[in-house]
Amino acid sequence: FIVDRKKELIKYKGFQVAPAELEALLISHAYVDEAASHKQNIIQVDGETGESLTADTLLKRSIRLAKWFQHQGVSVGDCAAVNSENRLEFYTVPLTGFFEGVIFTGFNPEYTPWELKHVMGLSKPKVVFCSSRTVDKMLSILHEYPYVKYLVLFGEERRSYHPKVVMFNDIMGNADREELDETYKAVALDPKEAIATILYSSGTTGMPKGVMGTHHNMTAFSEMISTQMKDMMMNDDPSDALLVVIPLFHGFGFMLMYMNLIRGKSVVLLDKLKPRVFLEAIVKYRVTRLSVPPPLILFLVKHPLVKEYDLSSIKEVRSGAAPLSAEIQKELKEKFRIEHISQAYGMTETTLAVLTSPPGAEGKIGSSGQIVPGMMVKVIDSQGRSLGKHQEGELCFKGPLVVKGYVGDPEATRNTIDKDGWIHTGDIGYYDEDGYFFIVDRQKELIKYKGFQVAPAELEALLISHPCVDDVAVTGVPDEASGELPLAFVVRKPGTKLTEREVEKFVEDHLSPAKRLRGGVIFVDEIPRNPSGKILRRVLKERAKNLKSKL
Ligand code: AMP
Repeated sequence: FIVDRKKELIKYKGFQVAPAELEALLISHAYVDEAASHKQNIIQVDGETGESLTADTLLKRSIRLAKWFQHQGVSVGDCAAVNSENRLEFYTVPLTGFFEGVIFTGFNPEYTPWELKHVMGLSKPKVVFCSSRTVDKMLSILHEYPYVKYLVLFGEERRSYHPKVVMFNDIMGNADREELDETYKAVALDPKEAIATILYSSGTTGMPKGVMGTHHNMTAFSEMISTQMKDMMMNDDPSDALLVVIPLFHGFGFMLMYMNLIRGKSVVLLDKLKPRVFLEAIVKYRVTRLSVPPPLILFLVKHPLVKEYDLSSIKEVRSGAAPLSAEIQKELKEKFRIEHISQAYGMTETTLAVLTSPPGAEGKIGSSGQIVPGMMVKVIDSQGRSLGKHQEGELCFKGPLVVKGYVGDPEATRNTIDKDGWIHTGDIGYYDEDGYFFIVDRQKELIKYKGFQVAPAELEALLISHPCVDDVAVTGVPDEASGELPLAFVVRKPGTKLTEREVEKFVEDHLSPAKRLRGGVIFVDEIPRNPSGKILRRVLKERAKNLKSKL
């Protein structure tokens, strides 16, 4: 007796209909249609200069870039990197990537050449888009990557001294003033297989890895957000502006911009938090929505300048990327009349948030929200058994927002996403009787500094290469303003006189500012390890906490 069919096949009058074939066709249209459907709306504003971009212009530019990609032989499965601060040209690259099946990857503009080599090795881009801030760093390592065909430079400032540098504006030519090319067709892709993005995360352990998001992850996100956030996605107010100050190379900023393309409303884009510019942008553009990491919530609550500005346009504040204390959340609620204040939880490996509080349901203070539509969640104990309400354990998620895995690292993929498709987050939490989740701890190695990932393994790999270091372990110490600060326990080589400052300087010379040892350097005789040599991170975390509380 055949009772069911678990494969993807649909049978229509005995004919086979492959869902993947239909999906591949539809996805190629969905991107162009979505981008085109809000044509004249101002979709991006540079919050500092006031320069803006309509959806129509963004689409024209993306189609122009798509043709340039075709001309240069940059095609399906190739990768294009953006190594730039937030700016209006940025999102043309991923949008073109979606159309052409070219994988987008984003590099932190603060990366040093040392860090750039790591991410270049993971994503192997054929083209790297730079700004004047990053181009010289990229040029200094370019000889190691002969497969990079071009560095495309954003902005007006010309660098014609290197044959591989071309100007973004030259590629664009008159694109803004020309008619939209209605004949342009995006390529058809198998959405579950084709990679759309490579973003970086160290996951639960080890060095930063390239997280492969598929086109299916992106469209599942569109569906999820359109279902759950109807009020935000479908209202008629074209000026319902969202302010994005989070870097676009990180999943949080990247997906907020994507969400906004679907909304067709304005994003006020800022490069980084400059207090006055940030506050003035909220007032000037009547910003209604903020999605920010906890340090920005702290800024709104504590910074003296905030009092000088009328921030009454804001009706929604969402915090994500790191834990926000219930006290600060309460303080924000008391100080401002904001309709909706909530926390959301997610990770690069789950595309964006998988726990949120939908509009209208503000959620509970201190909670990260409920599971989003289309996803499943469970809390498990150390034996992998599912736990009930109010029992703390590891959060695991399953469903269409879980990414494909880590590029070139099947072992790390297997260790994170189990054979049944559940992603093990390394975060500890519980849920209550209403299905609200509370994150209480992080059992994985990750340190979060102002929402930025700092992988202890990366700092350890660097520090052990120092000639005076015998052994080392890095952990995070709690800090109200920044979340956590990286701290190193160092065993000196016998007979050497390494100082704290020398260790800090070594890190500053090789790694970007978020990874600096702001938590300090402590010299010890031994790093606590288990019999098989694994660092006992819990012991170190406790030691760091105790030291901090004594200060
Ligand atoms: P990333 O991949 O950089 O977004 O980092 C994901 C990690 O940030 C999660 O695994 C958590 O450890 C942490 N995180 C994100 N959102 C929250 C939240 N609302 N509460 C606590 N931790 C969070």
